[in-house]
Amino acid sequence: MKSLSERDKQNIWHPLTQHQTAMAPIGIVKAKGALLWNEEGNTFIDGIASWYTCMYGHANETITAAVSAQMQRLDFVLFSGFTHEPAVKLSEILLEILPSNQAKIFFNDNGSTAVEAALKMAFQYHHNKGEKRGTIIAFEDGFHGDTFGAMSASGLSSYNGPFEDFLLKVERIPPPQKDTTTAVLEQLDHIIETNDCAAFIFEPLVQGAAGMKFHDAKGLDKLIEKCQKAGIICIADEIMTGFGKTGKNFASDYLHHKPDLMCLSKALTGGMFPLSITSCSQTIFDGFLSEEVQKGFFHAHTFSAHPLGCAAALASVQLLSSRAIVAQKSYIEKAHKDFAKTIKNHPKVKEVRCLGVILAVDLQIKMERYGNLRDQLYQFFMERGVLLRPLGNTVYVLPPFVIANQELEKIYESIQSALEHF
Ligand SMILES: *Cc1c(COP(=O)(O)O)cnc(C)c1O
Repeated sequence: MKSLSERDKQNIWHPLTQHQTAMAPIGIVKAKGALLWNEEGNTFIDGIASWYTCMYGHANETITAAVSAQMQRLDFVLFSGFTHEPAVKLSEILLEILPSNQAKIFFNDNGSTAVEAALKMAFQYHHNKGEKRGTIIAFEDGFHGDTFGAMSASGLSSYNGPFEDFLLKVERIPPPQKDTTTAVLEQLDHIIETNDCAAFIFEPLVQGAAGMKFHDAKGLDKLIEKCQKAGIICIADEIMTGFGKTGKNFASDYLHHKPDLMCLSKALTGGMFPLSITSCSQTIFDGFLSEEVQKGFFHAHTFSAHPLGCAAALASVQLLSSRAIVAQKSYIEKAHKDFAKTIKNHPKVKEVRCLGVILAVDLQIKMERYGNLRDQLYQFFMERGVLLRPLGNTVYVLPPFVIANQELEKIYESIQSALEHF
């Protein structure tokens, strides 16, 4: 019988893959907690919670039970002109934990579409007021998704080269560090003076795809303050940072000035279902109220607020504040810090940083002997039963909250072995 990966090769075009040179994909048949099983029966520890989605563990029983009960009651109903308990309840519980200025929940079906909706809301908000504003301000090396608006805001040009001529107008600033904030603020002043800025979009505190790069919360706070004074709508893309990963529920909880719009997805449903949210302040929502129909937000996805996704999200958000998860979060935080201490002076470690359950190690390894270090590292970890997806020379760990002590230790050991091996 042909294996899954052989059958896959016949028909399937994978994301983020150069099929001429890529290795065959690994067939996964089962997942539980922090573990994935391949079709040969080997296990891998999911050290990145499958792109930081399955934070409560794979096949979490609370979440599967909630979804299973929901699908018996109401599978799906269109969300234009209709509503349902899972969406209503999710909006209530989210607004309890989101920054207090967030007032309305708009539903989408994935991260990129949450960003797309936020950008369109920002543009239309100004348009409804009769102002012409078309420029987006974004961070260098940001990542916001792969649809056109989101891609425009993203600053990782290696992904977006072929599309550059078709993108929205964006001005970029470097994420502020403690000693660069003044310079970045000056740059921002100049951009605001010379452009019709509509929105400022950012991944607060941690730029995920860029290599888990951190920036300064106080600096970001000042940028938001300046933008809001100039009537520029601030969009926090918390698709990666949301739901406890930075230690607090949201990275925006570290900020004094709160964003006008927020984008959430990934861990929202604990990886169970594609769903996303664009939340906004009352001021933004009110900007769409009018006797003129066309001032409303005419934007929808067929599967907006899918009841199964909402049920998964409800169960996940409730788990987030459960005693067991809170305890696991602080356990991981402390374990990361201890591990960072033990490797920080290693000659091959350029920098190690942690925040909440995120650990990132920038490696200083000469490339000539090994060719593509990133791919070699990925293989090295997989051979040891550990799934980590290094970003360039950065190895990061962002495990499910429920990861067991010995599983986390095994991840650390494999990183230590990599430091000796390469
Ligand atoms: C993953 C991600 C996105 C895109 O989400 P998709 O669901 O993949 O479209 C956008 N922004 C950030 C910060 C992300 O991490």
